[in-house]
Amino acid sequence: MTKVLVVDDVEDNIILLTLELEDGGFQVIPARSGYECIEECDKDAPDIILLDNHMPGMSGIEALEKLKANPVTAEIPVLMVSADFSHQQVVKALDLGAHDFVSKPIDYPVLAARMRSALRLVNAREALIKANAELEHLATRDSLTGAYNRRQFFVLADVEMSKARRQARDLSVLMIDIDYFKVINDQHGHAAGDHALLEITERINAAGRASDIVARLGGEEFAVCCPDTDLVGAKTIAERIRERCKDEPIICFGKELCITVSIGLSQLDPLDAGFDALLQRADKMLYKAKESGRDRSVAG
Ligand code: GH3
Ligand code: MG
Ligand code: MG
Repeated sequence: MTKVLVVDDVEDNIILLTLELEDGGFQVIPARSGYECIEECDKDAPDIILLDNHMPGMSGIEALEKLKANPVTAEIPVLMVSADFSHQQVVKALDLGAHDFVSKPIDYPVLAARMRSALRLVNAREALIKANAELEHLATRDSLTGAYNRRQFFVLADVEMSKARRQARDLSVLMIDIDYFKVINDQHGHAAGDHALLEITERINAAGRASDIVARLGGEEFAVCCPDTDLVGAKTIAERIRERCKDEPIICFGKELCITVSIGLSQLDPLDAGFDALLQRADKMLYKAKESGRDRSVAG
């Protein structure tokens, strides 16, 4: 139910408005001053505020200023209510972010229509924020595993590299490739392969810190950028991933898939020209891990 905060210093105004609003299907919370308005919003934010302007102590416009200055309450639509708005007040309230004005005596159908209009705008804004978040997810994540995609990995890793350099902190990177993955697909089917990719991603995610950047670079190849991590720390993470993959078969369609991974790792060197150089070293180490028998991690 839509929650309306009705702010008015005259009790009769609150009672009348409450009757009409409750009839209209709204839940009403009363506040008898600007202070109470701020207090109620801090306790439990309403969906919309009807704010009387002329009140002793804190005026409606002063309360509006406080609401808009607080990020938690800034987006709640506020309808200013008054019998006599001066031009200055209208300009000030609109500039502060009031949604609309309602004149006293209140014409309820008009008030309800103005409230619906304000709430439609809030809904549209929320839908836009949600759509933007979804678009961002689509643009930055791999659709199968939810790990970062290649492009976003380089964006984030570059930022971490600059930070590490500026603050003279460690940074390591892991390149992970599933061993003989083609065989998994050939023997168990592509769907089982997809399931394995998802499960391996979860194991990689679980092995490090929340600040590690886990990405699927393509196919059955992953990379992890680990801020504040030296080669010894990176080796610990790599072995944790490798052992977990080897020791716990992936259960898929009632079958056990035994999967191992090979991992190459490297640490940021002051002479590295860019993140590419660091990643290339890890890739070389991955090649060594493959060459020397797979199911191992090689650092260098
Ligand atoms: P190696 O140990 O040398 O890495 O051998 P491999 O078989 O893992 O490597 P190869 O590069 O020969 O084969 C990679 C396989 O990964 C082939 C491809 O079909 C499979 N693959 C790539 N992307 C996907 C995917 O999204 N889903 C599934 N199921 N398989 C994929
Ligand atoms: Mg492979
Ligand atoms: Mg590969």
